[in-house]
Amino acid sequence: MSPLGLALVAALVAALVATGLRRSRKSRIRREIGALPGSTPETALSVGDFGEMDAAIALRACPCGGRPALSGEGSREVDGRRFRVARLVCPACEEEQFVFFETTRLFH
Ligand SMILES: [Zn+2]
Repeated sequence: MSPLGLALVAALVAALVATGLRRSRKSRIRREIGALPGSTPETALSVGDFGEMDAAIALRACPCGGRPALSGEGSREVDGRRFRVARLVCPACEEEQFVFFETTRLFH
């Protein structure tokens, strides 16, 4: 193989390795986000008022070390329990995460 050919193969291998590393880092971050309290209705954070929700969102960190910003909110009802769901996006790794807040006792 010519030196140029070898260099091309080396560059290709390096690119593949870099992509693989990035991908495994992303999937690790996603796993860690999924394990955070409040990431599912089962582990929803119980709050007494909307101020506590804002505080919890402000304290939320991304496993990559970034500070996710609020990008949307919605509500959900699961088995008669009401949840407020905040959608956060991390500006550093661009992963999104959801934070479930149980609001059943806020409205009853
Ligand atoms: Zn992040």
